[in-house]
Amino acid sequence: MEPTSFLVTVSEEEIRRERRKARELRASQWWKRKRALGLCHHCGGKFSPAILTMDHLVPIIRGGKSTKGNLVPSCKKCNSERQHRLSFEETPQ
Ligand SMILES: [Zn+2]
Repeated sequence: MEPTSFLVTVSEEEIRRERRKARELRASQWWKRKRALGLCHHCGGKFSPAILTMDHLVPIIRGGKSTKGNLVPSCKKCNSERQHRLSFEETPQ
């Protein structure tokens, strides 16, 4: 295996697995407590917990995992801005 600088190859299966883990974590007390704070990780704004989405800091498609350290609450605005930037980022919800 040769080391890759920034190109990460993620298989369909890995993407499915990480998305499943994200779904499980979204139902967890950990996430509910985090979201209940109502803070967007990116802009620091305060929002209604109901509109915060789960965002991967490192997108799954770029090798990011569905771990607590890689999952943050994001408001819709930051989320859609990120989607634009990372043209094919997955939809978090
Ligand atoms: Zn935000």
